[in-house]
Amino acid sequence: MGGFLFDELIFGPVRSRRLGVSLGINLLPTHRKFCSFNCIYCECGWTDKQEALKMELPKQDTIKQLLEKRLIELQNTALHPNSITFAGNGEPTMHPQFAGIIDDTCRLRDAYAPEAKISVLTNGSMLHKTAVVEALKKVDNNLQKLDGGNEDIISKINMPLKAFRLHDYVEHLKQFRGNLTIQSLFLRGIINGTKVDNTTTKELNDWLKLIKQIKPERVMVYAIERDTAGDGIEKIPKAELESIAAKVRAAGIDAAVFA
Ligand code: SF4
Repeated sequence: MGGFLFDELIFGPVRSRRLGVSLGINLLPTHRKFCSFNCIYCECGWTDKQEALKMELPKQDTIKQLLEKRLIELQNTALHPNSITFAGNGEPTMHPQFAGIIDDTCRLRDAYAPEAKISVLTNGSMLHKTAVVEALKKVDNNLQKLDGGNEDIISKINMPLKAFRLHDYVEHLKQFRGNLTIQSLFLRGIINGTKVDNTTTKELNDWLKLIKQIKPERVMVYAIERDTAGDGIEKIPKAELESIAAKVRAAGIDAAVFA
């Protein structure tokens, strides 16, 4: 069972398999996870619903000051970031000042690291909020999660804490008019006594149907890398991920495998 948590608000840079040299921003508490999902593969461990109720989030100004300080330190070093990445201990768009923080980050990026892309790794659960959608339209890499093509598999893999309607989610994703990347993690196993597998022909067909509707710029196909919240998850071999990516490319959409 996994449970790695970031202990800083600004972390790294780390070498990311998907984003290159990545300077991380954690808008969630340090040492605690805060998320609207409870993915069985989460590297931060299980989501604690009770803890989420009394969670205090870092202030917008604190993030701004720490990010500016770190970007100044990294100027003209070998660790100059390719990406300034919102990730960390949970779901970044749940931060109430997410839109303002994105504006601050754009200004700081332009001043100190103009070549760096701004990336947000998100589960898309806050896309009903206009401010979140508008903020995500400003970033270079808008990376939205889609691990399955029907509500049954999503409830088994992502376990959203609130009611989740896949149809609504897909409609929200269409708002980006293709300016987004879909990140999809593939796995199988018996987790907490339940068989979970999003690699069967039926599951892949359902998923691909939605990918064709969303028409993202790119699909990132990947497998687990580190420890996961649930035990018993199988890492899907690279060759199998490649054949999933080939189906996406056959639909005229770019796809890349990260294994
Ligand atoms: S959305 Fe991300 S942070 Fe939240 S539970 Fe899933 S993997 Fe973990």
